[in-house]
Amino acid sequence: MNKKIFELGKDCYWNGGVGQYIIKENNKYTATVAMQENYVVKLKLDKQGAIIWEECDCSCFEAPHCKHVVAVFCAVTE
Ligand SMILES: [Zn+2]
Repeated sequence: MNKKIFELGKDCYWNGGVGQYIIKENNKYTATVAMQENYVVKLKLDKQGAIIWEECDCSCFEAPHCKHVVAVFCAVTE
């Protein structure tokens, strides 16, 4: 994972950027991230807690994970 993106996402999480209501279905999470705009992030984790699938409605191309995905990942793995 890109370290800079990871730091940005972690900061976003620590600053309360991840919405309070995270929907959890089995290993799939859906959450809202508020930065400059609101983004909906969907995340699927395997049993070890690694990301196996992700979706974000932002238009950034920060591969492999955008900062919104990282923020939600931090929130659900806390
Ligand atoms: Zn994003």
